[in-house]
Amino acid sequence: MSIAGNLAAIKSSIPENVTLVVVTKTHPIDKIMEVYNAGHKIFGENKVQEMVDKHEQLPEDIEWHLIGHLQTNKVKYIAPFVSLIHSVDSLKLLQEINKQAAKNNRIIKCLLQVYIANEETKFGKDFDEVEAILSSKEFEQLKNIKIVGLMGMATNTENKEQIKNEFHSLKVFYNKHNQFSILSMGMSSDFAIAIDEGSTMVRIGSLIFGERNYQSN
Ligand SMILES: *Cc1c(COP(=O)(O)O)cnc(C)c1O
Repeated sequence: MSIAGNLAAIKSSIPENVTLVVVTKTHPIDKIMEVYNAGHKIFGENKVQEMVDKHEQLPEDIEWHLIGHLQTNKVKYIAPFVSLIHSVDSLKLLQEINKQAAKNNRIIKCLLQVYIANEETKFGKDFDEVEAILSSKEFEQLKNIKIVGLMGMATNTENKEQIKNEFHSLKVFYNKHNQFSILSMGMSSDFAIAIDEGSTMVRIGSLIFGERNYQSN
């Protein structure tokens, strides 16, 4: 099927209250424009440099989401335009985002990335560490960031029960802190389970563009 066809199929299979972030990492401008021309304007990238390059080349009205690990020294490059950072995993990073947001006269929306997978490779904080950040004095002082929700990635496994349990644990934690409005969970392989478990934002690449040539992150 065409990219526009894949996009339409995904859109019709997710509920209206779930936001679709089309993950454009590794894909060229002309392919991304097919999605844009089909009317979709919320895109996710996992690398700062790639996001900056694409932001320069693509239309202004695109909402750019940073979904991959973010190093503090690179925050300044995306601070002028990023609309949501999904992958915040330290107070130090939040402080830097706050500083760069202030320089740009902005309030940058962020999600805290929570570690729910049973894997060594995934970034994020565990539930206790997230609570420690949210209740810290340092966090209270940050006026140019707003934590609007949580993000989590399930284990990369065929075991649907395990994926379901991991997403469920994040949803329970999300509900417990009823200050959030975005729960970002689910990608091509597991978005249906994530939605069943209460996701409000899914991040989908491969199902729209086909497999990436190389695995990044
Ligand atoms: C690449 C990526 C996705 C999308 O993965 P697909 O399997 O292509 O849908 C979602 N979230 C994050 C954090 C990613 O890095």
